[in-house]
Amino acid sequence: MTNKTTISAKSAQVFSNQVLTWFDLQGRKHLPWQQDKTPYRVWISEIMLQQTQVATVIPYYQRFMESFPTVADLANADEDTVLHHWTGLGYYARARNLHKSAKIIRDQYQGNFPDDIEQVIALPGIGRSTAGAVLSLSLNKHHAILDGNVKRVLARCYMVQGHAGQAIYEKTLWPITETLTPEKGVANFNQAMMDLGAMVCTRSKPNCEICPVNTGCLAFASEEQANYPQKKPKKVLPEKHTIMVIPRVNQQVLMEKRPPTGIWGGLWCFLEISDHEQLSNLLEKLNLKPKTNIALDKFRHTFSHFHLDIEPIIVDCDKLPAKEISENNTLQWYNLATKASVGLAASTKKLITQLQQLPV
Ligand code: SF4
Repeated sequence: MTNKTTISAKSAQVFSNQVLTWFDLQGRKHLPWQQDKTPYRVWISEIMLQQTQVATVIPYYQRFMESFPTVADLANADEDTVLHHWTGLGYYARARNLHKSAKIIRDQYQGNFPDDIEQVIALPGIGRSTAGAVLSLSLNKHHAILDGNVKRVLARCYMVQGHAGQAIYEKTLWPITETLTPEKGVANFNQAMMDLGAMVCTRSKPNCEICPVNTGCLAFASEEQANYPQKKPKKVLPEKHTIMVIPRVNQQVLMEKRPPTGIWGGLWCFLEISDHEQLSNLLEKLNLKPKTNIALDKFRHTFSHFHLDIEPIIVDCDKLPAKEISENNTLQWYNLATKASVGLAASTKKLITQLQQLPV
């Protein structure tokens, strides 16, 4: 497959003027991260907005900024507290990378967010488009962006072949976005492109009649909007199964902190076994004396690369074991009557809510 798009300086200017004029009238200007704009505030918003809608992000963003108003506050926080602020947003590697990057900025850049794009890209969890967005939106530096919304608008305008994740697709789109990004008004232009993708050139029903760039949009002219970007071939996800064991003593349940990498890395989860025969061994190892077991309804959690069928089982135990359950602090009793202050995996949170409603 080949993709070649040439855009003259004149048509690039027409495009950017149309987008900037539209932004003045219709663009979003009152989002929390658009107030008191700093690279730090924009960075947090850009990371939260990856794979997550604006409306969902707003309350998370506000809580996060209240707790960590500066890079130093974030760098100095412990990981459990940072992950707790992310509980429910998913894709927890984003939070762990934010935390790691904040420490690098504190230690290597005296707490000042770097303004050189290569230094920004070198931070964990920041790609080229996010780096461009942070520096352009907060400091008006001339960098192009290419997030999911921008890709969709450009793929339709220029009928670019391919789909997200394909190298040829990105390779074609980067020079296009760079050509179109104006020297003047780059912050407004980049914000407008994101808004256009989110509000007008939407995934399923683009509102072409009101689109500011419809005069030059190739897909609109040939009524092929639905064919761009092309559909990603559907992957059949493998299915896995796990049994989640919930030792319970009155209102307390035993939880385990996952290792820092891998699925649910650094989050608190229930213990897992792969088959029922391992249950007695596990309880023995934990020095727990079971009374009764209660099977809860099974449910499915889908990750980007597999489905996980979860079979939860409560094991009511007599009393808390006399000796410490763990020496390395990765196992803890959690009181269901208290508010969690650590990061919980989505499935753990769902089970805790269910447990809170059950009679003990
Ligand atoms: Fe998208 Fe339609 Fe605008 Fe083209 S004209 S960019 S398809 S909304």
